Amino acid sequence: MRRQLIAGNWKMYKTTAEALAFASAFLALLNHEGAGEADVCICAPYTQLSALKGAFTGADVRLGAQNMHFEKEGAYTGEISAAMLTEIGVDYCVIGHSERRQYFAETDETVNRKIHAAFAAGIVPIACVGEVLEQRDAGKEFEVVGAQVAKGLAGLSAADAARLVIAYEPVWAIGTGRTATAEQAQEMGAFIRAEYEKLYGKGAADAVRIQYGGSVKPQNAAEILGKPDVDGALVGGASLVPEDFYRIYKEGR
Ligand code: 13P
Repeated sequence: MRRQLIAGNWKMYKTTAEALAFASAFLALLNHEGAGEADVCICAPYTQLSALKGAFTGADVRLGAQNMHFEKEGAYTGEISAAMLTEIGVDYCVIGHSERRQYFAETDETVNRKIHAAFAAGIVPIACVGEVLEQRDAGKEFEVVGAQVAKGLAGLSAADAARLVIAYEPVWAIGTGRTATAEQAQEMGAFIRAEYEKLYGKGAADAVRIQYGGSVKPQNAAEILGKPDVDGALVGGASLVPEDFYRIYKEGR
């Protein structure tokens, strides 16, 4: 059975001092109220990763980055390579978040190159897909997400295909308070798994974890995470608050 992954995406929030305050509050909750059943991960800004790695030493909290470059090294001012992340002990990296597609010109092609580079370095990508509102209103959400999966996730080995994490994040539900219904999350999760089976076979399709992301809160987490084709959550705003993120994590299985 797939173990769910509850990942916080902090986006461009928190200084190092604030990140360390979060870590101590989250660890206190883990100590007092106990660990949940799911895997848990914080995807923090680059400059907070080392400090968080230290703070989470000995705790079962994984670390993720929010982006990386696909080249090993080179004259790419302002960019960060996979090796720079693995040196810190980063396990996951969010790839192709809709905000990066929207504001930083990410395409399915750069997403694909980054996914391959991440796996080559031993980092598990959290590959983001999702339609914008006009596409859903036009009834094109499956076509759009299907194309993102086919192009962005192409060419993986069977082993990497099984280890990948996919985050379905409908863009209209991000930071808007307008959550997709649990049924919509399940329906797209099942669709992505079926597409994935065509690409990589049943073994990989059964193993790949497909998260839902978009206005996940403590109040709606149980219903969303209760769906069979939802294998976790990628949490934005609510992951900034230790208590809220802990409550969501505890709903995971
Ligand atoms: P919110 O949870 O703030 O809607 O953000 C979702 C998201 O983009 C996570 O990557």
